[in-house]
Amino acid sequence: MNKQEFSQQFISRLKSQTGKPLEETTANERYYVLAELTKELITDNWIASELEHRNQKRVYYFSMEFLMGRLLTNNLQNMGYYHMVQEAMTEIGIDINTLENAEDDMGLGNGGLGRLAACFLDSAASLGYPVQGNTIRYQYGFFDQKIVEGQQIELAQQWLRRGTHEWEVCREDEAVVVNYGSGASLQAVLAVPYDLPIIGYNGKTINTLRMWSAQPVTEALVSSAEYSDYEHETRMITQFLYPDDSTPEGQRLRLRQQYFFSSAGAQALVRNHVSKGRELETFADYHTIQINDTHPTLVIPELVRIFVDEHGMGFEAAWKLVQQTVAYTNHTLLAEALEEWDEIYIQELFPRVYDIIVAIEKWFMASLVSKGYTESQLAAVKIIANGKVRMAYLAVVGSFSINGVAALHTDLLKNDALKQLFAIYPDRFNNKTNGVTQRRWLLYSNPELAKLITEKIGDAWTTDMENELLRLLAFIDDESFLDRLLEIKQGNKERLADYIEDQLGVAIDSSSIFDIQIKRLHAYKRQLMNVFHIIYLYQRLKTEADFTIVPRTFIFGAKAAASYVFAKEVIQLINVVADIVNNDPDVNKYLRVVFIPNYNVSKAELLFPAADVSEQISTAGKEASGTGNMKFMMNGAITLGTLDGANVEIHERVGDDNSFIFGLQADEVSELSNKHQDNLAIVAENKQYQKIMDFLKNPQDLGSSFVLAPDTFAKIVSDLIDGNDEYFVFSDLAAYIKAQEEIAEAYSNRHVWAKMMLVNIAYSGYFSSDRTIHQYAKDIWRLG
Ligand SMILES: *Cc1c(COP(=O)(O)O)cnc(C)c1O
Repeated sequence: MNKQEFSQQFISRLKSQTGKPLEETTANERYYVLAELTKELITDNWIASELEHRNQKRVYYFSMEFLMGRLLTNNLQNMGYYHMVQEAMTEIGIDINTLENAEDDMGLGNGGLGRLAACFLDSAASLGYPVQGNTIRYQYGFFDQKIVEGQQIELAQQWLRRGTHEWEVCREDEAVVVNYGSGASLQAVLAVPYDLPIIGYNGKTINTLRMWSAQPVTEALVSSAEYSDYEHETRMITQFLYPDDSTPEGQRLRLRQQYFFSSAGAQALVRNHVSKGRELETFADYHTIQINDTHPTLVIPELVRIFVDEHGMGFEAAWKLVQQTVAYTNHTLLAEALEEWDEIYIQELFPRVYDIIVAIEKWFMASLVSKGYTESQLAAVKIIANGKVRMAYLAVVGSFSINGVAALHTDLLKNDALKQLFAIYPDRFNNKTNGVTQRRWLLYSNPELAKLITEKIGDAWTTDMENELLRLLAFIDDESFLDRLLEIKQGNKERLADYIEDQLGVAIDSSSIFDIQIKRLHAYKRQLMNVFHIIYLYQRLKTEADFTIVPRTFIFGAKAAASYVFAKEVIQLINVVADIVNNDPDVNKYLRVVFIPNYNVSKAELLFPAADVSEQISTAGKEASGTGNMKFMMNGAITLGTLDGANVEIHERVGDDNSFIFGLQADEVSELSNKHQDNLAIVAENKQYQKIMDFLKNPQDLGSSFVLAPDTFAKIVSDLIDGNDEYFVFSDLAAYIKAQEEIAEAYSNRHVWAKMMLVNIAYSGYFSSDRTIHQYAKDIWRLG
């Protein structure tokens, strides 16, 4: 379609759909019509990809989360239509940006894990791999965050305002039934798939993200008094992302969700396989199911159930086939995040699946006994122990591949968290360091930098980032190039400063260092250490006449889980400190603090390109990989980090001269934890730290405009004192402060800093999810 045809179609549709003259249509209406019109342009390619992939081995990426963000710009750019559409819109007097901003984020994820799944889909389609996503079509995404009086408020995240999404297609004819309970308490739920096209770069391959929605089965008796309970329970399954699982009810619902999309996905695969006349025995030749963390682990016993109960296969054969089909990605080392479910819940909700888990356990134990394992060795690796089902163990035993998501993380899995299982299945373990898509995180969100790169080295980096970006190193002594890098960064900082002034009414100095920490709020990520450094600077600026700093703006974005008290207090602390600092004329020329509410993918797109400093300061050994660190790096921010997750691999590439690494290392943290070192002893000897603790204990004394009770930060205080500062905030604080001083000095020499930026951008190619996906495809999925 050419530009003229496109704008004609657009105008005529807009009029017929709204019954208004063009000038009176709203940005929302224009956006919907544009999305619909564009979707039609890809239909033929979508069908062609589907037909082609049917005859091949395909990968199914089972993930409870896909944090897609907005789709319009991404889709238009991947299709190669963005500039045509932009011009068509401009000619009829419409600014495409206002339409882009009318789109709600598709927020079907919590953070890194969900965004990783979305980056993987983009890479797989862009590289032409047949990969289909499988997930839940939540009615509401991860909550929208509002900040009121410095505190977080959660609001429902609407991404389906009109009941249906612009890009999805409902495939009612492919619905399957998922059963809960048994006998008289059997409850059947209809799983209806909605398919979303995943458009690869250049538009050739279009894959699918399949999202399952729960509905009452049609046979349910509408007249029954129990019907409304049944309908409610059914709809609840796909109502919310991550219902609060701190209660037994919440845990049951979460388990129902996990089984829902695992079972629906598995049933659809087997049905399609058989309907093509293929032998069940060849299932693993056509399907690999990659499970993103343990949330979809029930697909393992569920597939066994389908093979055995519905297709008459023997248990041993079915079990072997499943082990050849499923591959597991582990995402965490935190003991509290390794999923364990009460045995009785699984028994009650899915009795047949429970029996199969017991049978798997029996088979596993027998196989170990035959290898000469002792009783105590068996006890250490039991899948069912102390009334709980250990999902990670089930996932390891039922998969042919187990991977960690960064080199350090995989090492720690092998040598620590899953040590005993690694000893049994050493060949199954492998590493796949995470990556992010450069199309969304550089090409679209930092168009000026993307243009400069393409001007210098051509555009092959958009699909071969790992090799191509290294060519930028040739410009390391090119002063005009370095100046361009600095100018582009400055432009992005001004864009962010305008947004902050406009949305939050806070004026910031765009020539100050933009120091950004954006990620989910968690104790191990140590936003608290960042705030402590700010309080430290504030207190010195207030009390020491000769103390000066290079002007700095600290920017935060973070959502806290609704029931996570500590995390909510840290958000409040950041906002209180921001309020005090920004309104204090003694310091606000040098120091500003901004909390950006509702950190999500579209906010991220604005923030990464504007960063000078990338805060990656987790307690070493706790962050599996991180992907925010990679987005910062490709946008020319310098990492200030601990040797944790993928920071290790960033540092390995850019070296000490181009990153700021500080603090305890993973083995030191683990040793000190084992020794029960008194982590607060440090505070007793340090006046500056004592003042920070005083502030936490008596926040009302410091002149914030919020009304604060003395116990406002009680949970933070008790975690530090009673919890012995489990995450080593004070242990690392001195090293952190020193690293921050070094950063300020480096920043002051603009060309030195620009060279650091260049080195980081050039070496960021390794962290493209294209590289990661190529590795999965070759080593795990065995795709062509
Ligand atoms: C990349 C990303 C994350 C992950 O950030 P980490 O720093 O790796 O924890 C979380 N949320 C959003 C919206 C992201 O884009």
